Amino acid sequence: MGDADADTTRTDQLHFQNPVTRYPAIEPPEQHQAEPGLDSELQPKADIGEFSYRGTGRLEGRKALVTGGDSGIGAAVAIAFAREGADVALSYLPAEEQDAQNVARLIRECGRTAVTLPGDLTDAAFCRQVVDDAAGQLGGLDILVNNAGKQIVATSLEELPDEQVEQTYQTNILAMFRTTRAALAHLPAGGTIINTTSVEAYMPAPTLVDYASTKAAINNFTKGLANQLADKGIRANAVAPGPIWTPLQPTDGQPKEKLPEFGRSTPLGRAGQPTELAPAYVFLASPESSYVTGATIHVNGGMPSP
Ligand code: NAD
Ligand code: MG
Repeated sequence: MGDADADTTRTDQLHFQNPVTRYPAIEPPEQHQAEPGLDSELQPKADIGEFSYRGTGRLEGRKALVTGGDSGIGAAVAIAFAREGADVALSYLPAEEQDAQNVARLIRECGRTAVTLPGDLTDAAFCRQVVDDAAGQLGGLDILVNNAGKQIVATSLEELPDEQVEQTYQTNILAMFRTTRAALAHLPAGGTIINTTSVEAYMPAPTLVDYASTKAAINNFTKGLANQLADKGIRANAVAPGPIWTPLQPTDGQPKEKLPEFGRSTPLGRAGQPTELAPAYVFLASPESSYVTGATIHVNGGMPSP
């Protein structure tokens, strides 16, 4: 194993293994990156599945758009979808081109099509554009993963400016309304929508009141949407991650001094790695979850959730 992947594993997700020791309980050094941050700069490196996700043909021929598909959970989902047989479009911010090209390379290495679509989802016009471009360049759209997100800590309401509240709401929930509305013009019966929520929807940290409340809104939106779309044969579900080691954390998603203990307080005693989320998204995207809609899958190391 070379230096670049020394922190990841080559043991795939179907291997019988102890979840406590599948990954080490990492102790990330204090570090900071400017938003949106890069996977390539994370210490230690996160496991997005490059060496560890094994596909079994569950999404053969499907076409997917993953927002925030350049890094972290979205990158892990994009790689897993491609290894399951899907063509994948990635939405990300222009500053993340390097991460996005790395994920696109991994998608192409599976013999699948990768479409890269940089742009800002706080721009309403871009939300429509990115969906139409994804469908146009993939030749249709079967799966929408609304995963882009913004998380910035603020110690008190007095120190939380309106501008941040608005940006967080624009990114996390308003963009989700817009991309989903645009996707409905393309999704066939059998199509699926998967929204990334968070354990923060149920256990809001005192320092994340704006972020956590968008995640509660995402939960409710997902259930209402599932109800609205059921008779069209389109399913909508959510995945609620716990503490996962991604660029979201060292870009002011956590206080810097809290990073070394990130994820330690979960029952499994360690942070999750992005690729550990991928099977939940694959399940919800695939027809094998045909009777599952309006549901939330919790992937959080055992934190109590409703
Ligand atoms: P990440 O930084 O790798 O991914 C977030 C992505 O959001 C970025 O890569 C970026 O491309 C995208 N994004 C942010 N603002 C954008 C904008 N204005 N326009 C377009 N794209 C934008 O981090 P991640 O942790 O993988 O985050 C993915 C999702 O998981 C987010 O919704 C996050 O809230 C959620 N989540 C993460 C954790 C965790 O512990 N990491 C826990 C619960 C939920
Ligand atoms: Mg990123």
